[in-house]
Amino acid sequence: MNRKGIIIVVSGFSGAGKGTIMKALISKYDQYALSISATTRDPRPGEENGREYFFVSNEEFEKLIAENGLIEHAGYVNHYYGTPRKFVEDKLNAGIDVILEIEIQGALQIKEQYPDAVLLFVMPPSAEVLEQRLRGRGTESDEVIRQRLKRANEEAVGIENYDYIVINDKLEDAVERVHGIITAAHGTPDRNKEFIAEVREQLSRL
Ligand code: ADP
Ligand code: 5GP
Repeated sequence: MNRKGIIIVVSGFSGAGKGTIMKALISKYDQYALSISATTRDPRPGEENGREYFFVSNEEFEKLIAENGLIEHAGYVNHYYGTPRKFVEDKLNAGIDVILEIEIQGALQIKEQYPDAVLLFVMPPSAEVLEQRLRGRGTESDEVIRQRLKRANEEAVGIENYDYIVINDKLEDAVERVHGIITAAHGTPDRNKEFIAEVREQLSRL
């Protein structure tokens, strides 16, 4: 049976724990490919070019757009972020699920181009926990934290566009929920048309 790759879009407020969940998911289950985005923001301490992001200049980012090298892109708190096309298309063609950890405008662009994509929105157990996690991460200035919390207010309006919410209370539980949702998505009749047709055909010949 030919299993097709699915695009899984993961969004959520800054500090909700998307990056942490995705790292844990990938290390536990090696069947997933995590897309690496291009961004014009500066690397945080510990981040490496080509691992967390491709860190590029504004000019390089604009060139990627002009070359149709991104499947989606968006502005987020003073910077650009976008998903390189080739990696995603290569993985899908090879039957591998690709995870895009992107914000909400990009998520909607993906849903338009790939209606089969599964959209997950990671939520903190409460707004208070979100602020604690964002501050606890210690990677942004007070001003940027304020801007990111403001952006969270705006993004909260769009949650109904997603297929599932995942509450990130206990990390291991959140990882299992994400894996469970993706596993279930592979079981819909829509994603198994060829297999269903094949068995129907076999039945008709009995
Ligand atoms: P995002 O990628 O959504 O911006 P991060 O993955 O960077 O968020 O997580 C924000 C902070 O919260 C990090 O310091 C991370 O260690 C912490 N964190 C993430 N998930 C959990 C969790 N389930 N419980 C406690 N702390 C968490
Ligand atoms: P951060 O600066 O915290 O790494 O990311 C800021 C926001 O940009 C997060 O919501 C993250 O999901 C989003 N993001 C990261 N890469 C992309 C991308 O390629 N496209 C879009 N649209 N958003 C992205």
